[in-house]
Amino acid sequence: MVEKLTPPNLPFSGEEPAPSLRREGWGGLRVGVIGGGYAGMAAAVTLAEQGIPVTVFESAKQLGGRARGVRIPNPIRQKEQHAPPSIQFSDGTTDGTTSHLTKPHKTRQVIGYSHSTKPASGQVAGYPGGGKGDRPLSGDYLTLDNGQHILLGCYRNTLKLIAQVGGNIEQDFLRLPLQLTLHDRFELKAPHLPAPLHLLVALLAAQGLSFAERLQAARFMLAMRKLKFKLARDVSALALLRAHGQSEDLIRLMWEPICISALNTPTHKASAQVLLNVLRDSLNGRFADSEMLLPRLDFSALFPDRAAQYVTRHGGTVLASCGVDAIIPHDDGVELITAQGTQHFSHIVCAAAPANTARLFRAIPALVPVAAQIDAIPYQPIYTVYLQYPAHVTLPQPMLGFERCIAQWLFDKGRIAKQRGLIAAVISAEGLHQEWDHEQLGEKVAQELREQLGIADTPLWHKVIAEKRATFSCSVNLSRPIHTTPLANVMLAGDFSAGDYPATLEGAILSGIRAANEVIHAHVCKR
Ligand SMILES: Cc1cc2nc3c(=O)[nH]c(=O)nc-3n(C[C@H](O)[C@H](O)[C@H](O)COP(=O)(O)OP(=O)(O)OC[C@H]3O[C@@H](n4cnc5c(N)ncnc54)[C@H](O)[C@@H]3O)c2cc1C
Repeated sequence: MVEKLTPPNLPFSGEEPAPSLRREGWGGLRVGVIGGGYAGMAAAVTLAEQGIPVTVFESAKQLGGRARGVRIPNPIRQKEQHAPPSIQFSDGTTDGTTSHLTKPHKTRQVIGYSHSTKPASGQVAGYPGGGKGDRPLSGDYLTLDNGQHILLGCYRNTLKLIAQVGGNIEQDFLRLPLQLTLHDRFELKAPHLPAPLHLLVALLAAQGLSFAERLQAARFMLAMRKLKFKLARDVSALALLRAHGQSEDLIRLMWEPICISALNTPTHKASAQVLLNVLRDSLNGRFADSEMLLPRLDFSALFPDRAAQYVTRHGGTVLASCGVDAIIPHDDGVELITAQGTQHFSHIVCAAAPANTARLFRAIPALVPVAAQIDAIPYQPIYTVYLQYPAHVTLPQPMLGFERCIAQWLFDKGRIAKQRGLIAAVISAEGLHQEWDHEQLGEKVAQELREQLGIADTPLWHKVIAEKRATFSCSVNLSRPIHTTPLANVMLAGDFSAGDYPATLEGAILSGIRAANEVIHAHVCKR
């Protein structure tokens, strides 16, 4: 939910500016946003919507940050043309958060789109593979996400902003009722019933658990409801689950997969309070809140590219390949130094990834404590193994889990995004897989698909994308920086900033909206 600010007449995202401000204009307010990921673009949209001049600086060639589409030469076409294959994916070997995209580029790119959705050259809007059904097999280029993402129905701010910048939620996503299936071992499926009946029936009818375990799970959710999902003291998710009599099998089959998918942190380290925040908003809400939304577009196209068009249409500027090298605070504003020159702003929102934010803040004495707080945040990886099979290969359902395997969740990109034969296997959080090279990992996952599902075909190619700092490790009582800083005209956004949510798109979007509202708040209070 959009955070409400206290002063009267303050415009909030999604609402018209207060008439007095609209009349007088924003007098001297000019905002620079560092980072064109989901947080930065949410901040920019929130400001641009109110007619506030805003400029976004993104160091990479493309927008999206840790949720971005990556366009690559089609390995099959390369093989046909006897070109050297580009199977080893350079992104995967970097620190993961920013990869090669953050390297300085010689020329900046002004993203000034026309008003219609303009796909990247060679790409057909709507299908990440670049075109109709078989494009992943036949096109010259294809677009993969840096990692398969899932959105939940309760990600209200994300869905609202996507729609605000021109998205169509029903067309952009494959919407699935809550269903967690671990192949041949466990299934939880929510029936179309009013909340919270849908969840209780789902838990009591879960397959793969004893009757006693199903009761334990239902009792746990009822106990948490009674507590309003608020703990007096944060503990690990594992400790909370054990304290509420959840059996080891129940934890392994249901709670651990939910915790790792939502928090990207194993239960023995994960914050029980943050897990409860997610359960409160997803499983305890309306039926639609628990739905899972799988994007049919790549993640740059889904929101950041459209947001750039929106910002441009509202008089703002989005600069790609234009990283900020330094922040210089002054009494009357802030200078941002880039390789292409220096620009002056009344306020800035820093929405770079945590390591980049800490680097920029460390050079400013007043912000050294914030940099130190960010430096102390631990990370968790996410690996995505893409396997391109012949087009006829499909999974029994769009999303399927494995138990006691390296691959945790499999996504059938053919069913989701018409990338036929393409399977994305996701491996979240730390584990032994980090010790393997990408070749071994690809082969191991293909072997698991063969053994578990009987897929006899050999993949035509595979590609591993390792985001080594995919998210912060959502540990117990983690100290996260707030959206204001000791400098009145420097705000902070990003999935790692203070909030109820783990590192998610919703957390990032909310942080951007909050930071933008803090800018407006600071400006209004000063006048
Ligand atoms: C593999 C993977 C899978 C995930 N799965 C899910 C999921 O299923 N569901 C979910 O909700 N979330 C998921 N997440 C988390 C989600 O992607 C992140 O929480 C979110 O994208 C973070 O957005 P952000 O804007 O805070 O940060 P970022 O995306 O890191 O954006 C920061 C931006 O700042 C830019 N930048 C850095 N330094 C500078 C500089 N000096 N100047 C200018 N620009 C700079 C970077 O290039 C980047 O574009 C996943 C993440 C990964 C990596």
